[in-house]
This record gives sequence, C-alpha cells and structure tokens, in this order.
Amino acid sequence: MLKQAQRAYNFNAGPSALPFAVLEKAQQELVNFQGTGMSVMELSHRSATYEQVHNEAIASLKELMNIPEDYHVLFLQGGASTQFATIPMNFLAQGKKAGYIMTGSWSEKAHKEAKMLGETYVVASTKETNYNRIPALDELKYEDNTAYVHLTSNNTIFGTEWFTFPDTGDLPLIADMSSDILSHPIDVSKFAMIYAGAQKNLGPSGVTVVILRPDMLERANANVPTMFRYDTHVKNNSLYNTPPTFGIYMLSLVLEWAKEQGGLEALAKMNKEKAALIYDVIDQSEGFYRGHAEKDSRSLMNITFRLASEELEKKFLAEAKEAGFVGLNGHRSVGGCRASIYNAVPYESCKVLSEFMKDFMKKNG
Ligand SMILES: *Cc1c(COP(=O)(O)O)cnc(C)c1O
Repeated sequence: MLKQAQRAYNFNAGPSALPFAVLEKAQQELVNFQGTGMSVMELSHRSATYEQVHNEAIASLKELMNIPEDYHVLFLQGGASTQFATIPMNFLAQGKKAGYIMTGSWSEKAHKEAKMLGETYVVASTKETNYNRIPALDELKYEDNTAYVHLTSNNTIFGTEWFTFPDTGDLPLIADMSSDILSHPIDVSKFAMIYAGAQKNLGPSGVTVVILRPDMLERANANVPTMFRYDTHVKNNSLYNTPPTFGIYMLSLVLEWAKEQGGLEALAKMNKEKAALIYDVIDQSEGFYRGHAEKDSRSLMNITFRLASEELEKKFLAEAKEAGFVGLNGHRSVGGCRASIYNAVPYESCKVLSEFMKDFMKKNG
C-alpha cells in the first residue's frame, strides 16, 4: 500500500489535499462500515447508523469552531456558488440593500448573483490594485437600509485573507469562508452566517457547510422555493431530502482529525509555520520571487507569487512539475504561481517546496 512519503506534493487550490490518516480510515471502513456489511454510501440516510455520522459531524464542527449553542449547522449541496444566490433569495428583502465587500473574484461572483435579485452596493473594493490587499476597517462604508454585509474571508485566487473582521453592529455579517474555514480560531458570534464549500479545508467536494444565527430565519423572505429556503433545512436537520452522505462522512473524519491535531489553535500555529517557510523564501529572494499580496493581507492558505518574466514562470512551473509538485499554477485570471497550503498539506511538503524554490533561484538568479 502507498505510504505517506510516497504521496504527491499536492498544492491544488481545490479540490485539494486531504489528511492521509483520513483517507486510510475511509479505506478501512469503505466496504463494511461499523459491521453493517455496507459502505456509508449504501446506507439509508434515514438509518440510525447514518444519522449518528451526521450528528457527530455537526457536534464536532460546533466543538472545534466554538459555535454558539443556538446557531444552526447545515449540510447542503450546490457548493458555495449556490449560496451566492440563496443568500439574497432569503435575506435581501424588498426596499433593502445588500452591501458587498469586494476583495476578489469570488466576491464579484457573489455580488453578481445578488444584483440579479435585488438592490446592492459596494461597501469597499480593492479591485483598483488587482485585489492585492484587504481593505482597512475605516474604508468600509455602510449605507442606510442594509439587509446584510457580505465578505470573502480568504481570497483563494489572489492570496489575501482577513485577520480582523469588521464589527458591523446590528447589520448581519455574512462570510464566505470556503478557503480558510477551520484554519484558525474565529469568533463565530460576530457572524450572522458563515458558509463554505468543503473541498478546500473540510473534505471532498459535494457538501457545503452553512452556519446560521437563528434570528436570520425570522428575517428571511417568505416566497422562496422549498429547497432554497434555509428554514427547510433547519427544520429537517439537513435531512429534508437525501444529503451528500459520503461527503458528510468524510467531513466527520476530517473534523476528528482536526481535533487530534489539537484543534484550531494548533492548526493555526502549524499553518503559520508552513506559510512562513514559503513567504521567507519570497521575501529573501531580492525580487526574484514577487508576492502578489501586500504583507499584512497575505493569506496563510494560498500563496500567490510571480517571477521576473512569464518565460521564467513557465520554466519554474515545468521544473516544479518534473520534481513532483502538483497544482502550483496560478489561477487563469491572475497568472503566475500559487501554492495552496490548506490544513491537510503537510509541513514536509512546504519544506520541500521552499528548498526547491531556493534551488531554482540559485540556478536562475
Ligand atoms: C472555491 C471557492 C468558491 C466556489 O466554491 P464551489 O463549492 O465550487 O461553488 C467560492 N468561494 C471561495 C472563497 C472559494 O475559494
């Protein structure tokens, strides 16, 4: 069987690396889950065995993120992209406006959906400098009659991340945390809603996590089709229809793994150490590597950088591929290079990449 050391150096942006221990556990349990003679995929979603997996995943997420007791945790389908539409469908009431903080492509996509459904405005934007930073808190301007404020906590494509969240007072704050959920502790009580597609830090694609403050249900629009209403899923514990059972099972294993690592404080410490390995090479390269993000906005999850010319970038990426690194190409809309170093990317992979970068600079500098 494949050993950890034989695994790829996977820096994919998403779907991305999963913890090796999680994959091994899933493999062991695949054809005979808890003595049932069936895989989790073959269980009824109404069975007690499955329901335990489902409820344990909710409990583990609440424990790890220190989610207030009365908040709802939902497991939906359609990815974060579907949430871009269901948020305004439910929470953008007539006569109100939704405020969007623009920090990258995913904020733009979220904003675009809301514009189709109601009135919106831009709270702040860093588009002018190609989204290379998070706006300062005093740049955020809220208008009267705001239904909610939306932000993207980590900008997967541009490599920037919020480290201090705005205090929006009575305005409900909604965050797309698809690419940094579970990477460091946050104060969930500041948010009216948090959502995340699982395929970056939580598990495989197919399940979308929603964390919802209960009073949001009272604000929700009445005329929304059943499957797109949050209260449908709240009332039915995300079992109104068939949930993505295997994805939720994998999520539960990832959450167990996160607890074994020491929880979010411990993961945050490791993530900082991993990111420092690569940012240090960039900073000490005297311009050979150029980070896209301003230093105080730098993401600990997605490290974006360029080299002096596109030709040199091509050479870097080709040699990196040859050396066994996967997923280092920048997003097609930005170019350059990107190393995504989510929770499950081992320190060792980051170490090897930093050595490779130093070596490449020596030969080509
Ligand atoms: C990947 C990503 C998305 C898109 O998620 P899907 O689950 O593919 O819809 C949205 N927002 C952010 C911040 C992302 O990183």
